[in-house]
Amino acid sequence: MTGELAPSPVLGLDSSKVQIEQTSNPRTRPPSESLIFGQSFSDHMLVVPWSSQTGWDTPKIQPYAPLTLDPSSVIFHYAPSLFEGMKAYKDKDGKCRLFRPDMNMRRMNTSADRLALPTFDGGELTQLIRKLVSIDSTWVPNEPGHSMYIRPTLIGTQAALGVNQTSDALLFVITSPVGPYYKTGFKPVSLSADPSQVRAWPGGVGQYKLGANYAPGIKPQMQAATKGYHQNLWLFGDEAWLTEVGTMNLFVVVKGQDGVTELVTPPLNGMILPGVTRDSILSLARGHASGSAPIAGLPKQLRVVEREMNMAEVMAHSDRGSLLEMFGAGTAAVVSPVERVGYKGRDIMIPTGEGGAGNVAKAMLGEIDAIQRGERASHPWSVLVD
Ligand SMILES: *Cc1c(COP(=O)(O)O)cnc(C)c1O
Repeated sequence: MTGELAPSPVLGLDSSKVQIEQTSNPRTRPPSESLIFGQSFSDHMLVVPWSSQTGWDTPKIQPYAPLTLDPSSVIFHYAPSLFEGMKAYKDKDGKCRLFRPDMNMRRMNTSADRLALPTFDGGELTQLIRKLVSIDSTWVPNEPGHSMYIRPTLIGTQAALGVNQTSDALLFVITSPVGPYYKTGFKPVSLSADPSQVRAWPGGVGQYKLGANYAPGIKPQMQAATKGYHQNLWLFGDEAWLTEVGTMNLFVVVKGQDGVTELVTPPLNGMILPGVTRDSILSLARGHASGSAPIAGLPKQLRVVEREMNMAEVMAHSDRGSLLEMFGAGTAAVVSPVERVGYKGRDIMIPTGEGGAGNVAKAMLGEIDAIQRGERASHPWSVLVD
């Protein structure tokens, strides 16, 4: 990162000061089988106001309720807004676990700094999230594949129409019980790769999880849908470099000239969101490739590379029969296999393997899910809530 850091707050975020107001009318969690992603929310939320004068205010865990904001608040006009997406999982002993929360905290601070919003001690926010999850632990479903989605959000709230660094901000965290992404096996997706649609560009903000990055993607997604595709494969530039898929990172598996299976993802070149799932897949695949932590289901010989790949290379692999897999990667689904890419009037078909996913996608989902649910004894990525 370059440029100046946002000024450090006067008072730091302090989880030990948290005030807790329990709800007086607890709701019942919807039945696990009826959960729709992001539609129902748990009983409590975390709220921490910030002002440039006093820094981070007393954190409060309080009943889930609407916010009240002045219509002139900068959030409504200039979109100083950023968020995170993480999950709490129940292990077989019924204990709640987070997955690599330090990564989300680091990324959230990177986003805050980019928007000149206040930064904070990520360890303190993790403590507050642990408290929030433990208070609403009955909202974490324990059926296989279920979890509780956690949405930390930071917005600028100064009540004034000026494009300046905001004098006020609000950090809040809401949580939502979610069902399995795949109820009955994998559902491979089709992608529209339209070079005229651009999600991110060099020097832009694609690498930050800003609210402002998402609304502009909705219309292209709808246009893809009218052409019969589920999602967009975001390309960049005249060479049609692959960047991301929908709101997920992209992985491609090909057979190299030397016959070795290669797992490829675009490098963090400023246009790519540094996904926790992306990093986890790279790390696990490298552990496998080096022989230090073999994973069942992966080819014995595996080359793991962060490098640029363009549509010409994808088509060449397709023609040669060496295009083995393509999948998206993100917290919601872990992996999302791709079966078809529409590009310049041609449909490129991608093998999806038995059950709708290829070997690499399947092995990665299996391993990450096992770590998230605490099935890999004392794995450092799995953090007990209490
Ligand atoms: C959140 C997100 C991802 C995935 O990040 P994870 O930390 O793995 O959930 C990838 N791309 C975009 C654009 C995202 O917003």
